[in-house]
Amino acid sequence: MSERPYGANADTEEWAKKRGLRWSPRAHCLHWLAKGRCTMPVCTYSDGNRDYLDHVCGYLGKDGRLLISQPYSVSTFRQLADDCDEFGLKAVITGTGWYGHGTVCVYLRLRDDPMEDE
Ligand SMILES: [Zn+2]
Repeated sequence: MSERPYGANADTEEWAKKRGLRWSPRAHCLHWLAKGRCTMPVCTYSDGNRDYLDHVCGYLGKDGRLLISQPYSVSTFRQLADDCDEFGLKAVITGTGWYGHGTVCVYLRLRDDPMEDE
């Protein structure tokens, strides 16, 4: 068994493999997505007033970085939209989170990177 984020299963690995994505254990926030790393000692952009960020993991691929969040619900759409503007991101939300029953999936990428059908 290879390394994978907490909550991931064999289906997740198959999904990532098909897309040429490699899990990045250091990925946990929008800074990693936007700049490749986070320089805050304790990142304040990874939780708190952003309920759209929960059970976050990141993947590296030939088309750039992909941050996946799997919250049970999302109520902070205004914050999500503002964060997308601030960091130059786009987001796709689906109802197919694999973290646990009832989670949704929020895919975040840089605006200039291609966003396939996830
Ligand atoms: Zn950060």
